[in-house]
Amino acid sequence: MKFNDEALKRILLEGSYVEQKDLDKAEVYAKEHRSSLVDNLLSEGLLSRDILGQAIAESYGVKYADLDSNGPTKEQVLLIPQDVAKKARVVVFAQKKTSVTVATDDPTRIDVATTLQSLFPGKKITLAFALPDDLDAVFANYYQGLEASFAKIAESKGRAIPEIIDHIIEDALLLRASDIHCEPSEKTVMIRFRIDGVLHDAGEMPREYYDNIVNRLKVQAKLRIDEHFTTQDGAIRHISANHAEPVDLRISIVPTLDGEKIAIRVLSSYVRDLALSDIGLTARMQEKIVESAKKPFGMILVTGPTGSGKTTTLYSIIKILNTRGANVTTIEDPVEYKIQGVNQIQVNMQTQLTFAKGLRAVMRQDPNTILVGEIRDFETADIAVNAALTGHLLLSTFHANNAATAIPRFIEMGVEPFLVGSTLELIVAQRLVRRICESCKVSFSPSKTELEKYPEEIARHIAPNSTLYRGKGCETCSHTGYKGRVGVFELLSTSPELQDLIAKTPSTKDVMELVKNNGFISMFEDGIEKIKAGLTTVEEVLRVVGKV
Ligand SMILES: [Zn+2]
Repeated sequence: MKFNDEALKRILLEGSYVEQKDLDKAEVYAKEHRSSLVDNLLSEGLLSRDILGQAIAESYGVKYADLDSNGPTKEQVLLIPQDVAKKARVVVFAQKKTSVTVATDDPTRIDVATTLQSLFPGKKITLAFALPDDLDAVFANYYQGLEASFAKIAESKGRAIPEIIDHIIEDALLLRASDIHCEPSEKTVMIRFRIDGVLHDAGEMPREYYDNIVNRLKVQAKLRIDEHFTTQDGAIRHISANHAEPVDLRISIVPTLDGEKIAIRVLSSYVRDLALSDIGLTARMQEKIVESAKKPFGMILVTGPTGSGKTTTLYSIIKILNTRGANVTTIEDPVEYKIQGVNQIQVNMQTQLTFAKGLRAVMRQDPNTILVGEIRDFETADIAVNAALTGHLLLSTFHANNAATAIPRFIEMGVEPFLVGSTLELIVAQRLVRRICESCKVSFSPSKTELEKYPEEIARHIAPNSTLYRGKGCETCSHTGYKGRVGVFELLSTSPELQDLIAKTPSTKDVMELVKNNGFISMFEDGIEKIKAGLTTVEEVLRVVGKV
């Protein structure tokens, strides 16, 4: 809870809601465990949620809206459109002919009053304070599961197909899903959403309407309806009722024994526009990246599996470089987001515009910085290295498990080792781990026995009884305890010693031996730091990074 502890302490004491000695005790505990004072008071039973709500409301000089025991009806909730309600964090608590009482967890926000006045013209609006958790619980009223929508198709005998597709996409956007999967089996079709990197079942629909859904999506994506036995790719621009900007969707259709499986990638604004600091790079790592990115020539490679946030990292670097006077050109497959002032070229297999061909053409256009979506063959690697040698800064992604492995893998493609050594400036390896939900984050202190359940590497880095964090699960995070993701990184920048080593075609082990004494921090170690900082959990780092 973002409420100021000092102010809260004063209110609780002045109102005799808690005794000084209990407060002191909770405060000592909170300091020791780096947890919130309020959470301690609540969990120790020294304070009830009701009193806490009253006390905070009093400090704001407004009434307390106890949404938990006296919640609004669904009709009242729906008086404020979902996007407005969630952005302004408001819900109608009580309504009369000439006035409306609106509950919020931050009555000091001026923009809230303005927004509300436009929704309830001519009415007197009174704000009341509600606890954040209670507010989140009320917001659940907006979410209508897909199942309800599937029942509607059956009723309408299939006529509701467009609505259903809309509903699936809108639900996916609402839950911030990155992908939608429609997986047919003999009698049903399972719809699943990938949220923060993990697949969740969203609903199951009867099989009989699926063919119509596939057909409609094919028409929208300009694909062949009569083709059922080959893979097809297309794109749809979805105009959303709840989003200001249109959302681009990439549709991939693959034939399976049980019918055509559809995967939809959401290219939405909520995954773009990240600064280096937002994606989880430490200050030292950011410095290193900026230093490399400002060199006039050389090669920066970002490695990791698909979906590890490589593109986001590259875009963040491009953002630093994209100043007036610099000519930045990208060759991508696909162009995921438009960047102002950057020339972006889309790879196109039908016209044989490949990475290699595009790169060759771009070289004639006097660029300073070139971003090649991916280096995956000798031809592209060869031109890339040549570009970097001849005064260009070249950025690209590359498939390798970690930074040290990227070096032998790159050489294996057939580029002269000494050329790789003299152009390689920096390798960034990365993964994405789920971030602990801020709305339900709690601290705990694992005992020695509890830590022993983890692999040895964990116990070596985390001392018994140190403070770790986890999400209890709440409405905000769909009861997963996680919301959003954060990157774990390792950075390998070249040095004269490393350049010499690269020229000798080293193995991963050779590279590791050289860099580990030079302060190299592995993804696993960066993950441990992020566990200690309360950003993620041991389980996530083990799941995503494994033991390195
Ligand atoms: Zn949560």
